[in-house]
Amino acid sequence: MFASIPSAIVVGAQGHPVRVEAHVGQGLPGFSIGGRPDDSVREARDRTRAAILSSQLPYPKVKITVNLAPSGDRKTGAGLDLAIAVGILAASEVVPIEALDRLAFIGELGLDGSVRAVPGVAPMVGALGDVDVVVPIGSGPEARVAALGRVRLIATLGELVAVLNGLMPWPDHVVDAPPAELVQCADLADVHGQPMARHALEIAAAGGHHMLMVGPPGSGKTMLASRLPGILPPLDREQALAATMVSSAAGVPLPPGGLVTTPPFRAPHHTASGAALIGGGSGAVRPGEVSLAHGGTLFLDEIAEFAPKVLDGLRQPLEDRHITVSRSGVHVVLPADFVLIAAMNPCPCGGGAPGECLCNASQLHRYVRRLSGPLLDRFDLRVNVHRPGIDELLAVVPAESSAAIGERVAVARTLAVDRQGCLNRALSGPQLDEFAPLSDASRAVLRHELEQGRLSARGYHRIRRVARSIADVRSAGDEVIDVESVHVALGLRSAFTKVLPMGQAA
Ligand SMILES: [Zn+2]
Repeated sequence: MFASIPSAIVVGAQGHPVRVEAHVGQGLPGFSIGGRPDDSVREARDRTRAAILSSQLPYPKVKITVNLAPSGDRKTGAGLDLAIAVGILAASEVVPIEALDRLAFIGELGLDGSVRAVPGVAPMVGALGDVDVVVPIGSGPEARVAALGRVRLIATLGELVAVLNGLMPWPDHVVDAPPAELVQCADLADVHGQPMARHALEIAAAGGHHMLMVGPPGSGKTMLASRLPGILPPLDREQALAATMVSSAAGVPLPPGGLVTTPPFRAPHHTASGAALIGGGSGAVRPGEVSLAHGGTLFLDEIAEFAPKVLDGLRQPLEDRHITVSRSGVHVVLPADFVLIAAMNPCPCGGGAPGECLCNASQLHRYVRRLSGPLLDRFDLRVNVHRPGIDELLAVVPAESSAAIGERVAVARTLAVDRQGCLNRALSGPQLDEFAPLSDASRAVLRHELEQGRLSARGYHRIRRVARSIADVRSAGDEVIDVESVHVALGLRSAFTKVLPMGQAA
């Protein structure tokens, strides 16, 4: 007898439908799986056999042949277990084939017959189209986000077989909400002082500008960066779906409703590998941090400590807002549109108060040079962050809240998108002339900076993009960039000018 069961696998953050064909018939007892299974899928033989026997169901003592179609994709992961077991049971007439009409199955089997959650259920379900899907209980919320048909939750293989044989209705399992570890983003009201860094953060959020913070340990760089999600607007429907697919594929815990709606915040350690940051890895292609940060923030603390080769991998996603990962002939495209916030110490020894630094000029130079010019060029905002002064620390008046700042950010973002169809970060030179024209006074100020050699051609464009965002936040988008916005933009430049060669400095 033969049965063909719809299921799916995940490649990158995309689901691919798979048909599990099972044949049970004449021949010496045995179990073979074809159709490019990897080791994790081959192990399904042992898991399905144990699960069927543990569920007090008959296991066929004849030859079992399973084929995974189409044969093009390499099949990875344990998510095909349930479909393989159902296929064997249908082919050996333990469940009626008619009962499987318009049903698809996703889930890993425990040796005790339990059905367990697997990563990537959201994209897998999304790839299956208009069918009813049977998934593990824990995968219910993310399956519902992506499903076109009904979602059936199942706890064990035995329960599923009873339902398919008409011995009981579909069970009504309730999904336990995962622990609410989903970070309540800390509020900017707790950050005392730091007026310039706070303002830079607001501008970064408003224009989507990538930002580099330079400051000694203890100056609050991490504290500031981690508060960026609290002032970014919630994800729109498209971003939310993309972020959910990525998180699901990577096995990152999803919010109780299954849909990622708050901008993610990812802060990989500087020892992160290229695969961890960019995506890939051995075996299946896993989304990297750049994709997990999609729609939100990627924070690289101690950016000068990351391996230069790893940082080099950031260039494609920063340019294209997606990343292509290639692995054994398979090209996977993953979303990677994020605001990059980076932090570094002013020098290798950490700097600190004036006079504390022990580094000589060449050490300093080498340190800053660890960031390649092209990467440094991506940071529209480069700000110095100082340790807060005593008066700032002791201030009793709370600083402005994230909610208040977030309102201005949302208005500025809408303004930019309505005006030019993109955030200010993405404005090219000609677009700047069209959408961010300078007032005469602004032009005179920038001309003076250029003539004095304090501004490079690239820096000139950066300043104009930032000034556009400053104007959008301040005055509801006056057409022309006023001189005050230009002065503020110039003031947000980093003291890197001292160390960097001309052209890389602000
Ligand atoms: Zn130093």
